[in-house]
Amino acid sequence: MTGSRQKRVVILGGGFGGVYTAKHLEKALGRRDEFEIVLVNKENYFVFQPMLPEVISGSIGMLDTVSPIRRLLPRTNLHVRDVESIDINSKTITTSPGFRPHAHIIEYDYLVLAMGNVTDFRGLRGLPEHAMPFKNLADAVQLRNHVIRALEEAAIEDDDPELRSQLLTFVVAGGGFSGVEVAAELNDFVREVARNYRSINPTELRVVLVHSQNRILPELSEKLALFAQKILMKRGVEVRLNTKLEAATGEEAILAGGEKIGTRTLVSTVPSSPHPIIDGLDLPKGKNGRLITNSFLEVEGAENIWALGDCAQVPQRDGGFCPPTAQHALRQGRTAAGNIVASIRGGKRSEFTFGGLGQMGALGHHSAVAQIMGVNISGFIAWWIWRTIYLLKLPGWGRRLKVASSWTLDLLLPAELVELKLTGSMGITQEHFEPGEEVFHQGDLGDRIYIIVNGEAEVVREDGDFEIILAKLGSGEYFGEMALLKQSTRGATVRCTAPMDTLSLPKREFSMLAAYLPQMRETLESVMEQRTRANAQKSARG
Ligand SMILES: Cc1cc2nc3c(=O)[nH]c(=O)nc-3n(C[C@H](O)[C@H](O)[C@H](O)COP(=O)(O)OP(=O)(O)OC[C@H]3O[C@@H](n4cnc5c(N)ncnc54)[C@H](O)[C@@H]3O)c2cc1C
Repeated sequence: MTGSRQKRVVILGGGFGGVYTAKHLEKALGRRDEFEIVLVNKENYFVFQPMLPEVISGSIGMLDTVSPIRRLLPRTNLHVRDVESIDINSKTITTSPGFRPHAHIIEYDYLVLAMGNVTDFRGLRGLPEHAMPFKNLADAVQLRNHVIRALEEAAIEDDDPELRSQLLTFVVAGGGFSGVEVAAELNDFVREVARNYRSINPTELRVVLVHSQNRILPELSEKLALFAQKILMKRGVEVRLNTKLEAATGEEAILAGGEKIGTRTLVSTVPSSPHPIIDGLDLPKGKNGRLITNSFLEVEGAENIWALGDCAQVPQRDGGFCPPTAQHALRQGRTAAGNIVASIRGGKRSEFTFGGLGQMGALGHHSAVAQIMGVNISGFIAWWIWRTIYLLKLPGWGRRLKVASSWTLDLLLPAELVELKLTGSMGITQEHFEPGEEVFHQGDLGDRIYIIVNGEAEVVREDGDFEIILAKLGSGEYFGEMALLKQSTRGATVRCTAPMDTLSLPKREFSMLAAYLPQMRETLESVMEQRTRANAQKSARG
């Protein structure tokens, strides 16, 4: 390594684990400079995840759940980059390129792994395309905007009762803390703001919580979990137990066993998977792919590497392992920092012995459930304690003051209903279709051109009571160009016949490409003419 340079502690991940490790390292450093702290995080802010569900209803401001890491950690060198790879042999970290496409390599002497976990939809049919995760601020803002968009659309959808019902049905998969809090907040929000839509009847609204086990909130005692379930159901949430989400399309959540719930809003907080970069490391892993550490938070079999938070399997005194919660991650940060300093300066290392203070979860409408030091609390008192504890845990008095005033005003004022349109266009979209599902219907407006990535579809012309199959399409073929080129409505229906993944380009982008790439336009026009002729012959044969 670079011999004379200062020792460097590199922390990967700026969540509860990483930020609190850096905070305690800064404290231990005091006025000295015997080591340097580097923290790499995707964003330049720390997210207070337990409050994210409140962003859906706007009961706290979007920026009040986050804090700039530079302000929290003034003596830490922050790299706002994605970690791309970790090389344990050469003790280097490679981060993603910035404005210039060259690799950025950081050497380390001491490494802290605190990258959390991910919600991984890979391998689940249609979920990568149609389910929304709920982990960070962007997810929360996107969900809020999407829900408001769905309500706006439903308010003016008179022709198609099926579409209207899909727009007014909201499905959340995962009955752990995050899924339950999201369902509760979503339910409160849609039911409150629906009053502003004269054409929406509150009885049309459905919020469904799908959970694979026999009770929600497995983190809590059965009594408290049942209480929470009762409250949710009283508020109108449909709780579906022993039910697994298996697949999705843009119009349906498909449950194991084949039942389909028509919806245009599917949020999934499951399955929670190991971080892919941690997964790729040649280090010992335990349950759910978490890095195995000893009680000093040192990764088993590795030198000068600590792991904590959701990506680590940390032993507890009672023989189990620490649950993936914020309260554990931030306290593990303190222990890890102390042990890193002990490694640098020499000294006694300390074990992580925290057993947890309890669990709390909000259920909307000024109620919550909590299990604090073994005591079960529910209802308004639990909600008040929940708010006070989280308020005091927020970093900085400025932020606490802002959140406290937002919460106070929220008690008096109606929920905010503004949809923030942050992107001018949706760009290329990936979609998944199941057999029998229509991509578009004859007579619809032409809004996109589609390319089949895999799967099959048929092009069908409806003629009175009859249907004529005009073509069968498969992988690599495209459709939907005619209505765009002719500026007309769809001349036929395209229906999926075998599970199909598509890429589609919106009309605006398609028109720009066609205008500036004349050869592309000519090719498409000649294919369109061939297809039109073939279709006319088939229709004539009838
Ligand atoms: C909606 C929700 C509600 C929750 N409610 C509660 C609750 O009420 N009580 C409770 O105790 N816990 C709650 N939790 C769980 C708690 O937030 C986590 O246990 C805690 O955040 C774990 O901390 P961490 O540092 O391990 O991971 P995280 O806080 O997830 O931090 C990981 C960090 O690593 C960064 N990162 C990941 N990959 C890369 C990369 N390749 N390059 C650079 N940076 C990267 C991420 O951007 C992130 O900043 C909730 C979680 C969610 C999602």
